[in-house]
Amino acid sequence: MDFSFLSNFLLWQWALLLVILWLFVQWLSSRYKNRYRKRHLRFSHDYFQGLNYLLNDEQDKALEIFLQLVEADWKTIDTGLALGNIFRRKGEIDKAIKLHHDLLSRPSLPAEYKSKILLELGRDYLLAGWLDRAEGLFTDIAKDDVYACDALHYLMDIYQKEQEWRAAIDTGWEYQKLCKKDERPLIAQFHCSLSEKLLKQNNRSDAEALAAQALSVDPGCVRASIILGEIAIQDRQYQKAIILLQQVEQQNSVYIPLVIDKLAECYREQSDLKTLIAYLRGVENRTEKLDLASALARLIYEAYDKSSAVEYLSARMLVNPTLDGMNTLLELKTTEDDTAQNFMPQIVKNLLKKQPMYQCHKCGYAANTHYWLCPGCQTWSGMRPRIINNKTGLMYE
Ligand SMILES: [Zn+2]
Repeated sequence: MDFSFLSNFLLWQWALLLVILWLFVQWLSSRYKNRYRKRHLRFSHDYFQGLNYLLNDEQDKALEIFLQLVEADWKTIDTGLALGNIFRRKGEIDKAIKLHHDLLSRPSLPAEYKSKILLELGRDYLLAGWLDRAEGLFTDIAKDDVYACDALHYLMDIYQKEQEWRAAIDTGWEYQKLCKKDERPLIAQFHCSLSEKLLKQNNRSDAEALAAQALSVDPGCVRASIILGEIAIQDRQYQKAIILLQQVEQQNSVYIPLVIDKLAECYREQSDLKTLIAYLRGVENRTEKLDLASALARLIYEAYDKSSAVEYLSARMLVNPTLDGMNTLLELKTTEDDTAQNFMPQIVKNLLKKQPMYQCHKCGYAANTHYWLCPGCQTWSGMRPRIINNKTGLMYE
């Protein structure tokens, strides 16, 4: 029997079915596209209206629109959070807080976005100075995997502001371990801050232990060497203090100017200033950039005589003229009967005030007092002593 007629018929039926299916899919997709386009148009319209309100400073209206947009589609949450950021930058923290509270109170809020909004609310609290509230929030968020690193970082910030150094140290280690960042120099600074606090309370043994810990956490921590050197001076262990303070040259020689007075105290006690002068001249040769000339000239004056000091300083000023050096040279050369010249040191001193001893290499904050935590940008070890630049004179690193 011939079955070809039957198989042709089945083939046609299948082809017809496929065509119908294809048409159905096309219809479905065009329907979806239309709906999406309408929704998208609606979204764009609202979005631009919100922007318009924002530009016209009608922030309450803008806030309402953006909140509705976010609630209609939580994937647009970054728009809402950006608005919070704008409020914060303008100093309108109450509005930022209201926005974040509003978002958190929406019943439709998906669980995955909760920590993200809480993190922003914590930043509002931080800026408003409500450190306790911020601390509570960040401690909760730190338990969340996704935002733990951000939360721990803010917590470190808070403990630093509150000078809760133990908590700062613990959080620092937690942050380093979880977020794979090297925070050892910062953690060493926290140890040093706690050590200095204990020193003020006359708890010398714990202070010493903490500074030693700072050194084991970060062997390059200049501040720890200085604290240990100061403790040794208080204990009248001058030889020990000298070893500790001279460590600074290997750690970061730019900080040598911070320890010259302390070293002089040690060597003076041992009636051996000449050895210190030899050491500092060695440092001067090894690190040409350091501005040690004035300090050295004063020590030479004290250990030898005025003419040796003037001779040394004049030679240095010919190579690296600095205002500070000129000032010391004038002071050394001024005599009581030479009244005309007596004005010069004051004039130079006034000029010098315009070029402070220390400047932050991050933000440029300058002062004549050294701070380990820059008051300008809150960077640890940001402030450094002046150095010599052969082309432009004194400058900062
Ligand atoms: Zn700074």
